[in-house]
Amino acid sequence: MRDPSALVLSEALEARLDAGHPWIYRDHVPPSYRAKAGDFVHVECGRFDAWALWDAESPIALRVFSRRKRPDASWVKERVDEAWALRQRLLPPNTDAFRLLFGEGDGLPGIVVDVYAGYAIIVSYSSALGQVVAWVAAALAERAEIQGVCERVTRRKDRASELRHLSGVQPPEVVMIEEHGLRYEVDFEAGQKTGLFLDHRANRHYLRGLAAGKSVLNLFSYTGAFSVSCAAGGATVVTSVDIAAPAIDAAARNVLHNALPPAVHEGVAQDVFEFLEAAQRSGRRWDIVIADPPSFASSRAELFGALRAYKKLHAASLSVLTPGGLYAGASCTAQVSPDAFRQTLAEGAARVGQRLTVVHEVAHAIDHPYAAGHLEGRYLKFVLCRALPLA
Ligand code: SAH
Repeated sequence: MRDPSALVLSEALEARLDAGHPWIYRDHVPPSYRAKAGDFVHVECGRFDAWALWDAESPIALRVFSRRKRPDASWVKERVDEAWALRQRLLPPNTDAFRLLFGEGDGLPGIVVDVYAGYAIIVSYSSALGQVVAWVAAALAERAEIQGVCERVTRRKDRASELRHLSGVQPPEVVMIEEHGLRYEVDFEAGQKTGLFLDHRANRHYLRGLAAGKSVLNLFSYTGAFSVSCAAGGATVVTSVDIAAPAIDAAARNVLHNALPPAVHEGVAQDVFEFLEAAQRSGRRWDIVIADPPSFASSRAELFGALRAYKKLHAASLSVLTPGGLYAGASCTAQVSPDAFRQTLAEGAARVGQRLTVVHEVAHAIDHPYAAGHLEGRYLKFVLCRALPLA
């Protein structure tokens, strides 16, 4: 039965929506259409119909939530419980920090929830999501495993973010979490995103298994999560480089939290490119180099610049690698596809006359599922390569 009040969309979108792509851009909505921000709109598109949330500001005008009904508190709770069940099944032992909700991939577009040692932090990517955030918070508060619920809110005027306590126990400023049996501090007040880059959990663990007896250089180290993991894996020396001095201080503390010998870790608060240039000149080399920079592009317009920046970074990183060493190049820039990223590795290696072979390639950790029909949800690239001189 057709709904006479439904918003009818061009059938050109039908196949994409039907395959689970949850975004409807504003230029696909009749310009005269009006709704209230945060309303659930019944949309029809050929044989496809769904309830989608209206956003009055973003280029994404509608985010598809339900194919069955107008979402309410109990529908949202079902999504939260479903997401919880996946994490419970797949997370490694001795790990209490994980992404519970990864937006579109968990059926709640625009909403991310990370859990750190029983404290849940909600981040929403649109002001239209207020009601949904309240339902998510209520569903979280009902779970015995969650002791406190907060929301990270980014202020419009200065882009600064603050943590708003919503229910349960208020978290301390710094929370200790465990990942694969290693301990890390997470700064709830000052931390980036929601505090720790959980998407690299498996990659940190993977490198831990390769680090024994090796020297490791961790570029853009943030609080040294890769560094600690490699040190725990038996690296002879780990060098962390990050431009933010507080991050380097936190990395040193994380080494101590794990009872690792402090002398194994060397923290450098410096620009990565300056550091690499000096290291290259002095002839210092490392057996494993990790480069996981911040996003180099926030829109398609910046794609070309991002590709150039990756090539430059790979070339500089490869020039301080021991011949035959391992280079772990990572990219969290959603606009750069895995193919395009691999191409930057190839071209960066060519620039410094090296042969680069890919030995291991993955995306984000298992608590970051993405909808099969929504490749924008697959943002992380982690490519482990071996570099050899030309033969
Ligand atoms: N690899 C980290 C996450 C990196 S986040 C992890 O797994 O936890 C990006 C980091 O890059 C931030 O800590 C930021 O301070 C740092 N950064 C950004 N630009 C930089 C530059 N030019 N030189 C050094 N560090 C930089």
